[in-house]
Amino acid sequence: TGSPLSGRIAVVTGASSGIGEATAERLAVLGANVALLARREDRLTAAVARITERGGHALAVPTDVTDRAALARAVEAVHDEFGTVDLVFANAGVQHVSPIGDLTIDDWDEQINLNVKGVMNTVQAFVHDLESAAAAGGSADLIFTSSIAATRVLEKFQVYSGTKAYLSHLARVLRTELGRKKVRVSAVEPGMVDTELPLHVTDPDATKLMADLIKQIDVLQSADIAETVAFLASVPKHVNLTEITILPTEQI
Ligand code: NDP
Repeated sequence: TGSPLSGRIAVVTGASSGIGEATAERLAVLGANVALLARREDRLTAAVARITERGGHALAVPTDVTDRAALARAVEAVHDEFGTVDLVFANAGVQHVSPIGDLTIDDWDEQINLNVKGVMNTVQAFVHDLESAAAAGGSADLIFTSSIAATRVLEKFQVYSGTKAYLSHLARVLRTELGRKKVRVSAVEPGMVDTELPLHVTDPDATKLMADLIKQIDVLQSADIAETVAFLASVPKHVNLTEITILPTEQI
């Protein structure tokens, strides 16, 4: 096709639901070869089947991104199937919202292990691919799912906000190294998106806050973020949209 994404080789983490799943499907529809990474194999396989039915190219690679050995195996699997990766959407993340005194060690550990270390593991696994793809003359993209929580001061979001602030700043700092190598780095900072994310939130006040927001306003859908990611990767390669805040129109 004439799509700028045609023939690109993409890796999407957190591709078994929500934003990652929608983005993997959108990139594939636009002609990219897409490797879908997450832990739930059944969900990945189902998404790959939908993509394949529509004539797209996709590969399910069940991977826990907090496990570096598993990620190393994923790199091999993607290389065997598609070749050098030129688009990485490091999107897997989890949110636990609680007053600091109630936040269990497991809750903050999980957020830091996935949102920070899982993303670093993903960068480490694929950065050489991105550099080679750019050196070979193609576009190369490293895109993070940060959050509006990276910049807003939201009560009870302390650790989650910290992890997302880390990602937004990581994107800024990585550009100083990768930009000169012609690898684009972007942080997408969404507001409220209707996904499975709130299902993991255990604090009743926070759960209610998110459920109410979904009822009261027209929140974002995963497809809205998918379209944004596809756009970031589709602009001419000398253009890097670095930080994209995307809010539901009614979210203040
Ligand atoms: P979902 O809960 O639907 O998606 C989270 C994804 O991460 C799932 O595919 C999950 O799959 C995957 N995941 C969880 N743990 C791991 C792991 N250890 N290794 C690999 N994959 C893992 O929620 P969203 O789509 O909303 O979340 C995607 C990103 O968007 C997150 O980073 C979130 O912080 C961010 N975000 C979401 C917003 C929202 O309002 N929904 C707003 C702003 C940002 P599995 O369990 O199969 O591994």
